[in-house]
Amino acid sequence: MLLKELREKVIEIALKAQKERLIPLTMGNFSARDRRTGYICITPSGMEYDKLTAEDIVILDIEGNILDGERKPSIEQPLHCAVYRRRKDVFGISHTHSVFATAWAACNESIPVVVAELAALIGGPVECAIYKPMGSLELAETAAIRLRDRHAILLANHGVLAVGHDIDSAFANSVVVEEGAKIAFYARQIGVMRLIPEEECRSLRKISLEKYGQKNDIL
Ligand code: 13P
Ligand code: ZN
Repeated sequence: MLLKELREKVIEIALKAQKERLIPLTMGNFSARDRRTGYICITPSGMEYDKLTAEDIVILDIEGNILDGERKPSIEQPLHCAVYRRRKDVFGISHTHSVFATAWAACNESIPVVVAELAALIGGPVECAIYKPMGSLELAETAAIRLRDRHAILLANHGVLAVGHDIDSAFANSVVVEEGAKIAFYARQIGVMRLIPEEECRSLRKISLEKYGQKNDIL
């Protein structure tokens, strides 16, 4: 089977996201790009994650053409492909509807940086791309452009898109965005949030890239 291991990895991450409560039901999608062929393994549309097998994962080329698989790919395949086309450094994408981050997206507000790990992993506030309907080409283009060189973005009135140098790091970024969104929400109830300034965000990102972990494999 073509890219069996990577297909299984995509399922593993989808199940982890479900366990972390980042997605209600099947509201989310996950993909990984193979470094050798450039092919993309993506979750099928609307299927329960705990029933997925490797055959259910769809293989696409970067233009979104189906190369292998019987299932209909995620309706967000244009979004995943648009990001892979613009970002040569991205090899994994995690799209979730996690509650706190989506609450900020519901207000069309960026998630402010009030905790260091958000600055370290995402590189600054999680900005909000303007509303476009789910699954549309317009959503794909506007969100991919707005993402720029960041590692996550909000989709207005919809959810979160996180990317990474592999699907594990894209998933880690989804978790950090949700935590950052939750803490910012509570901080706002407690009092006046003290934002981490932009320059300090850049410095925290640099520190984490240069010093954090065993071989920076989460970033
Ligand atoms: P799919 O099940 O087609 O991936 O759609 C879920 C979703 O989150 C749409 O934005
Ligand atoms: Zn969605």
